[in-house]
Amino acid sequence: MARECEKIAVEAARTNLPYERYLLTLAEQEVLQREQNTLKIRLKRAAFPVLKTFETFDFTATSTISKPEVLRLAMGEWIRQSHNILAAGNPGTGKTHVAIALGVAACRLGLRVRFYTAASLVTTLSEAQAEHKLTRLQRILDRTDLVIVDELGYVPLPKDGPRLLFDFFARRYERKSLLITTNLEFTRWPEIFGGDEMMTGALVDRLTHHCTVLRLNGESYRFRQSQKPAGPPEGAAPAV
Ligand code: ADP
Ligand code: MG
Repeated sequence: MARECEKIAVEAARTNLPYERYLLTLAEQEVLQREQNTLKIRLKRAAFPVLKTFETFDFTATSTISKPEVLRLAMGEWIRQSHNILAAGNPGTGKTHVAIALGVAACRLGLRVRFYTAASLVTTLSEAQAEHKLTRLQRILDRTDLVIVDELGYVPLPKDGPRLLFDFFARRYERKSLLITTNLEFTRWPEIFGGDEMMTGALVDRLTHHCTVLRLNGESYRFRQSQKPAGPPEGAAPAV
C-alpha cells in the first residue's frame, strides 16, 4: 500500500475519484499483491522440477484420458476430500506433466503441495530417520494437502525404502491426498515393495479406496515429437 498509494492518489485526483473509492482501490491492490506473493511461495515450496500446466497439454494427443474429467480434477475437490489419484502408463505419455499441472492448479486454489520422485521421497524419509527427525518431517507432510510421488516403480528402492514408503502412504490414508505416477500395473507392485505381497496388498487396498485412476497409455509423446520434421522446438523464440 505504501508503495502504490502515491501513484493511485495521482490517478484518483485526475479522475475525481471519491476518497472511499481511492481507499478501496488501494486495498484491492494490496490484496492482489498478497495473493500473488503467497502463490509464488506455494509454488516454490511445492518444488516442482519444471512448471507444467494444462494450457500446454494437448488432450488430442492422448485418447485414454478425458479432458473434462481432468479439468474437473484440477478444481481440487478430490484434495479437499483427501482422495488420491494414480496415473499409470508407459514412459513419455504425460504422467509427470499431468501430475505437475494438477499440483500447480492446487497451489492456485491455495492448497499446500509437495512434489517428490519415489526415490527422492525415500531418501528424504531415510535421512530424516537417521537424524532422528522423522517425526518432525511427518508433521510437516501431514500439513501438506497433496504430496505427489512421481515414478514409483522406476528404480529399485534401497533396503529401508519399502517400509518407509508403506508407513508414509498408510499415514496419509483418508487424511491427506496422494498423487502417484507409475509405470507398473498393480500386479507388479510387490516388486516395488521388496516382494512383500501382504504389505503391498494392504497398501494397494488403502490407496485405491478413494482413488481416480488415470490410464495414460499409448505411444510416447516424446517419441512422436522426435519423429516430426525438424523445426524450432516448442516455445522457442522465433528466429530473427
Ligand atoms: P511421463 O511422465 O509419462 O514419462 P512426461 O509427462 O514426462 O511423461 O512427458 C514427456 C514430455 O512430453 C514432457 O515434456 C511433456 O510435457 C510432454 N508431453 C507428454 N504428453 C503431452 C501432451 N499430451 N501434450 C503436451 N505435451 C506432452
Ligand atoms: Mg515422468
